[in-house]
Amino acid sequence: MIIGLFGEDSTLTLALQNDLEEKGFGACRSTRPLPRQQSQHLVFRERQLPSDWKSLREAGMVLVWVGEPVEPAVSFDLVLPLGQSEGEALEKLSHLVRPKLAGPPRPSWDEYFMRIAQVASMRSNCIKRKVGAVVVKDRRIVSTGYNGTPRGTRNCNEGGCPRCSGLAASGTRLDECLCSHAEENAITQAAYHGTSVKDGCLYSTEEAR
Ligand SMILES: [Zn+2]
Ligand SMILES: [Zn+2]
Repeated sequence: MIIGLFGEDSTLTLALQNDLEEKGFGACRSTRPLPRQQSQHLVFRERQLPSDWKSLREAGMVLVWVGEPVEPAVSFDLVLPLGQSEGEALEKLSHLVRPKLAGPPRPSWDEYFMRIAQVASMRSNCIKRKVGAVVVKDRRIVSTGYNGTPRGTRNCNEGGCPRCSGLAASGTRLDECLCSHAEENAITQAAYHGTSVKDGCLYSTEEAR
């Protein structure tokens, strides 16, 4: 989140900046150049609102004006007149900042394990489809797997599976496919390491048909 504090230097402006810095914002002297990486929280302070303020807003900057409103053409996200108390101004600013600092909502456990299964699917070496699976026990991952040719054989994407490399019609010559399923691999992987999957739950990105 990037906040631009504009307006004459005042004790209020400084107090607002200090408050943001205490919240983890990094202070920047100039609005130029706007950082491309916006994962950080930054606060800029300048007396004049630059004429191209629209581009700052488009770049994601939240515009705050400290002082009497002078530029009616500009729709600031927040205007904090100098007359009000510091506490009142800080409260208004924090009202604006808090929801944006909270970030996206936390995923549910199901979403969490499905996303991890999606990442597992990216490891698949099968040229036909990419599937990932995760075995979970008591909200703990005990094994992961993805589809592809078995351990010790050539990867499917390197010609390891005659069926996948061939142009067999869907549903035919299935017995020729050497690629094992992600679910199968996740369970085999657990067995290989001597981990029990009893009472576990398996998350798979394979769509039910
Ligand atoms: Zn394959
Ligand atoms: Zn295959």
